[in-house]
Amino acid sequence: MNEKKLKFHIITFGCQMNVADSEMMSGALMKLGYEKTDLKKNADLVLINTCAVRTKPEAKVYSHLGELMKLKDTNPSLIIGICGCVAQKERENILKRFPYVDLVFGPQSIGELPGLLALASKAVAKKLIMLSQMKPQGNEKADLKMKRKLKGARIYGDFESAGDNLPEKDVARESDFKAYITIMRGCNNFCSYCIVPYTRGREKSRPFDVIISEAEELVRSGYKEITLLGQNVNSYKGAGGETFADLLERIDAIEGKFFVRFMTSHPKDLSDRLIDVMAHARHIAPHVHLPFQSGSTRILELMNRKYSRQHYIGLIDKIKSKIPGVTLTTDVIAGFAQETEEDFNDTVSLLNLVRFDSAFLFFYSEREGTAAMAIEGAVPLKTRLERLERLVKLQMDITFDINRSMTGEIHEGIVESLAPKSKKELSIRTYDNHVVIAESPVPSENFTGRFVRVKITEGFNFVLKGEIIEY
Ligand code: SF4
Repeated sequence: MNEKKLKFHIITFGCQMNVADSEMMSGALMKLGYEKTDLKKNADLVLINTCAVRTKPEAKVYSHLGELMKLKDTNPSLIIGICGCVAQKERENILKRFPYVDLVFGPQSIGELPGLLALASKAVAKKLIMLSQMKPQGNEKADLKMKRKLKGARIYGDFESAGDNLPEKDVARESDFKAYITIMRGCNNFCSYCIVPYTRGREKSRPFDVIISEAEELVRSGYKEITLLGQNVNSYKGAGGETFADLLERIDAIEGKFFVRFMTSHPKDLSDRLIDVMAHARHIAPHVHLPFQSGSTRILELMNRKYSRQHYIGLIDKIKSKIPGVTLTTDVIAGFAQETEEDFNDTVSLLNLVRFDSAFLFFYSEREGTAAMAIEGAVPLKTRLERLERLVKLQMDITFDINRSMTGEIHEGIVESLAPKSKKELSIRTYDNHVVIAESPVPSENFTGRFVRVKITEGFNFVLKGEIIEY
């Protein structure tokens, strides 16, 4: 007789590193015989892979947990696990606030998932027996109250784990044309506002040869876009002293039709050689995401970013001169502690000077446990929001100008999906990382994952419109 397969559902918040970690957990669970479900209500195991970088996603996790408690009321055998950076940061607090949670483990202990799950399953089985022995209280409300008194399995991962046994070979990829390869984990930079070094530990690069063979295998199996991931890819260091530029150069030498992106770069570590490798590459997308965070050297010092405004401008000049037509994107924080109007104007002038194709703009939000919490001179929230609004408006104008100026250009890219608003249109991501919406040349055909050439016909604030001229 066929045994019914257990089902899992993973909710992922945050950056691509978390998406890649969720793919790794999916792979590990499938190896254990679980199958994936898109519906929480059908799952035997729900994992929330959390992000602690900003307050909003953390708050969302807590609202998901409320929903999961109700699911557990109707399905007491459901196992609920919290993983990722909030789990690492909040640990015991999670179980105090949400006693029905079964598993809590950080990003470095994903390798322990099978063992943790076995312990949780045993505890849940015991709980089911206890539930079956409970005397009904005569009304639903009282029964529910009594049931909820039985706590979750309360299993912790090893929060001190160095992440040596991650199931990196078990990745179950979401897409069959786009793939992530994590090349390094952790961060040594300790930017004063950032929680990541405390939740993901110290930098650790994966072996050079392993990454190359994973990239070769992906290209062989038809993947068309590979994104190399790391908190700070530029400080990649192979065991033989190989740098990130060496890694990119070697991947670029792989034969086939594919292209490579990478995330995220730190301005203090982006080398001239990397720019040269990109300038001569066949497969490396001409796109650099280079967070500058603040245009004021004084604020950069307070942020512990370890570069100056001048250094950043110098890097951008080199990138622009060596890689013509490169797409530049960035991250900016408005209203960091002690930011004066003058400091803020330095940020405005940097946006005006570089003219990024797009930017991720945030207002500063304090994160418990970071060094920046001790910096005096908090900027009032109202001012932070006003400054953010000014940046958003400025960047929208710049992006709009750039997008309009692209009219008539021809770009190659990959169809990522149907356009969100129309089933007849396709959403295409160009090599240089612009999104173009274009009518499907054959609406009955599935173009997802295919290379196309597209002519830009109109530029808007967030997207470009185009016409597919080759497919
Ligand atoms: S480089 Fe800075 S912002 Fe990026 S993960 Fe490391 S500490 Fe955080």
